[in-house]
Amino acid sequence: MNDLDLSDWLERPACFGHLRYAQADPADLVQYSERVRLHIRAAEAFLVMSHAMSRAGCPVVIHTGFRSLAQQQRLFDRFAEGRGLGFDQAIHRVAPPGFSEHHTGYAIDIALPDSLRRAQPDLKLSRSPAYAWLRAHGHRYGFRNSFFRNNPFGIRFEPWHWAYCGDAASREVFRRRDRWLAWADRMPRDLVMLLRSPNPLEQDGYTLDQEAQQILESILEHPEAP
Ligand SMILES: [Zn+2]
Repeated sequence: MNDLDLSDWLERPACFGHLRYAQADPADLVQYSERVRLHIRAAEAFLVMSHAMSRAGCPVVIHTGFRSLAQQQRLFDRFAEGRGLGFDQAIHRVAPPGFSEHHTGYAIDIALPDSLRRAQPDLKLSRSPAYAWLRAHGHRYGFRNSFFRNNPFGIRFEPWHWAYCGDAASREVFRRRDRWLAWADRMPRDLVMLLRSPNPLEQDGYTLDQEAQQILESILEHPEAP
């Protein structure tokens, strides 16, 4: 697990349904709380939104914000080792380093105030009034649930994980993700499986028809440099 060669992974625009993201410019990050750093735009938007949530009687707190590549590597290793999972299994639950929305500074993992002390956010959040509020109003503040139930990325449902995409710069960062979503409903099934594979652009012995090839390239074009 610890022998994961980052240089190999970072060449890929996507793997196992996770898209590659560049790490935020440190100058754009602010210390939101003792443990949480965020992109300044996400921090501002969350402050406004969290006031509205508190007024509505369903406050939430931020459990995790920005994560560096090194932090993601440690998280991934700990997760896999702690559960005795191989790399191929762990990758369906945790993004490998280089492929987490948390690298951008725009993503937050939220928790209910009384559950912050638990190590991991949990699925109970999806049954809370806070989650219902976020689903109804989060978009007004620029936030969306990245890995909603039955998402086309094949990533498990994460009701706690929201990302800010309320301005031009953040939308640019998530452009490939939005393209994938826009195509998802009419994508050929083969292509969906291909996008969720370890390395979508290098499939030996696999031929796509021309339309599918064009869709794939359109979704994955211009992967951001690490
Ligand atoms: Zn997250």
